[in-house]
Amino acid sequence: MVRHGQGVNIPDDALVTPSARDFLSELETSDNARALVAKNNANASNCAPLAPPAKPLTSKSPKSELESFFNSPYAHSLKLQICEMGHRLWKRAYVDGNGGNMAIRVGEDIALCTPTLVSKGSLQPEDLCLVDFEGNQLLGAKKRTSEILMHLQMMKRQPQAVATCHCHPPYATAFAVAGIAPPTCMLPEYEVFCSVGVAPYRTPGSADMGKLVAELTDQYNTILMANHGVVTWSHNNIEEAYWRMEIIEAYCRTIVVAGQLGKPINTFTGPQMKELLNIKQSLGFVDPRFGMKECELCDSGDWRPGATCPAPQSAEATIGLDPDAEAAVKAITDQILAQMK
Ligand SMILES: [Zn+2]
Repeated sequence: MVRHGQGVNIPDDALVTPSARDFLSELETSDNARALVAKNNANASNCAPLAPPAKPLTSKSPKSELESFFNSPYAHSLKLQICEMGHRLWKRAYVDGNGGNMAIRVGEDIALCTPTLVSKGSLQPEDLCLVDFEGNQLLGAKKRTSEILMHLQMMKRQPQAVATCHCHPPYATAFAVAGIAPPTCMLPEYEVFCSVGVAPYRTPGSADMGKLVAELTDQYNTILMANHGVVTWSHNNIEEAYWRMEIIEAYCRTIVVAGQLGKPINTFTGPQMKELLNIKQSLGFVDPRFGMKECELCDSGDWRPGATCPAPQSAEATIGLDPDAEAAVKAITDQILAQMK
């Protein structure tokens, strides 16, 4: 209709195909088209995102270009995705108070991100911010999240990182509090989608915290932040970064419950694990185990649920370990046995 000069008076109930939506999004001058695209995206947040700007933006782009991008249907579709993930985080109780934050890389050194002091359960597209990679706010009415430096340092360090997601899901955070990565070789989904490293504790929002997390992104896409929470990244989109949260949280919950069943836990064999890692590699995900031999894969385990802990040593047991005391006990025993003859 538009091509044939009939304007963009598309009926309200029209279904817009992805290519038609792309075409409409190019009609930057038409408010009508924009409204329709935004409405269509709001109705179907799972649709493929609209095309990014033809000319990639940087923090040095003219303010007018940044503004036109920030208010474009494409940016709106990304903001809607962030809001949708925020609502899912909140519904699943992975965030508390105003906790949790997300970012999407939208140019060489710029990112869209969530604001500070807004619950992810009520996040709206107009709450989102545009920042440069130093954390300076470029656009957006609300102030950017205080934890943005970590997201940006991850993106700087890991050029593949398109989107980052941080929150505090209770079971995975429990492992972060204990300072241990969950044991491996138990569930396929977890092994394929997550590779988990542990970053030491630093004050949230500090450059030091960001640096320590960023250093792990070469090998891990899911990072437990000691005494704090979890952060994930994806080379595809924000939804995949969010999926990693669901997967690690479900995994941690499952193994905690499995550990209470009173049976030893079954794990994959080395060859079974190798097959999963092959799938993982074909999906373009990172994992430090890609080069390992089959026999090395399922051998680690700082903590295995269901494993019996060694009983605390009693005083008598300790004596048994002392060679002098052991010799004395043997001498006395021999004496008693000799008297009994
Ligand atoms: Zn946090």
